Amino acid sequence: MTNDFTEQNSPQKSSLIDRTLYIARMSEEGSSTLAAAYRSIGVNCRLSPESDVDSIDLARQYTIGEECYPEIVTLGSYLKVLSEPDFVPEKTAFMMLTADGPCRFGQYKQLLEKILHEKGLDEVLIISPTSANGYDGISDDSGQLFRLAWWSLICADALRKLLLQTRPYENNAGETDRVHKDSLNILCKVIERRDLSMKEKFIELVETMNHIGKKFSGIAANYETEKPLIGVVGEIFCRLDDFANAFLIKRIEIFGGEMWLAPIAEWVWYTNFMANHDLKFTGETFSKKAFENLIKSKIQMRDEHKLLAPLHKRFLGYEEPKNTSSLLKPAVPYLPYWGALGEMVLNVGGAIYLHGKGADGIIDISPFTCMNGIVCEAVYPKVSKDFNNIPIRNFYFDGTESDYDRDVEIFLELASTYKRRKKVKRVYPSHFTA
Ligand code: SF4
Repeated sequence: MTNDFTEQNSPQKSSLIDRTLYIARMSEEGSSTLAAAYRSIGVNCRLSPESDVDSIDLARQYTIGEECYPEIVTLGSYLKVLSEPDFVPEKTAFMMLTADGPCRFGQYKQLLEKILHEKGLDEVLIISPTSANGYDGISDDSGQLFRLAWWSLICADALRKLLLQTRPYENNAGETDRVHKDSLNILCKVIERRDLSMKEKFIELVETMNHIGKKFSGIAANYETEKPLIGVVGEIFCRLDDFANAFLIKRIEIFGGEMWLAPIAEWVWYTNFMANHDLKFTGETFSKKAFENLIKSKIQMRDEHKLLAPLHKRFLGYEEPKNTSSLLKPAVPYLPYWGALGEMVLNVGGAIYLHGKGADGIIDISPFTCMNGIVCEAVYPKVSKDFNNIPIRNFYFDGTESDYDRDVEIFLELASTYKRRKKVKRVYPSHFTA
């Protein structure tokens, strides 16, 4: 099997040869496993430096205040790379995802290029898959690496879910974080292996997920049903990046809540769904492209089911929506997906879905000034009213200090009150009653 990136010889592919590719930390798990997928084809890929006050200050030197917070966080992290002692422009590449719709991220590749150009660093390469084609361009070898990236993403989402459903109940503080870290390392080691065929790697990944599930089940914990379950929707970067959301997830756990975070895969499914929707709109329902999309989605779905099969019992009551259509259709009376594009429809659909799974409150994590959060905030009061007055609250982030603890505490009070009177009860997996 040829899986060495350096053995490929198209000019586009050769552009990553001898470079270090940096991936921004849009979730520790998702970025780490994606980096491992790139390493599996011979690309020296690593995560960009962790964000901190300095990286934010650095980014603000090159921005004018109209950019959203995810851009500040990402840019700051990439700018940190430029001052690392081993930085060599012609040996460096950055991944900058882009997106269509009412999202400014589509502009940020150009902004990064401009900044690098002004610094005389044109040799730095930027690779930029886009949501318009369901992120097919995530690799130049859009077959093998795309598929491996998908497996990596599914495993990463599952690992985060295991962390969030276990940590609030652990007996020994820090044990779940340690198991999570070990598990992520094990997962990445399997993904980056270069001695396995794709078929062998898939089998190995299924076994690894089984092993990881057992590790989490072995954590000493007291699973009681008193904790309020808080569903988290919102802007994908901000909700998944602990630094960007001022560690809101952990704050909520400290105040006694359990979190259910919308996964990254949700966005991939959404882009597939909208690609098909757009083809219908242009009269191409029975086109070659529509057929290819259908096959791609079927394969992705089959792979997802197999990878998650070992965690089936553990995730009882924590199931994600069957498909994007079932997520978006309940949101149509508030935000029809054919008119309101992007995360706002996923957030409203997600809030309704989580209500149906017995959540006791919904939090929307959004960057300050992002249209998605603003539109959702206007819609949530009606959603809440229609769904038993479930508490729904927006939290906005822009890197400035705020008393989040006070707001979290008040929200958890509301969620606990709702929990006592709610009509839709949770389904608990067996470890809760063991
Ligand atoms: S969704 Fe909003 S916050 Fe996120 S990248 Fe787009 S514009 Fe920025």
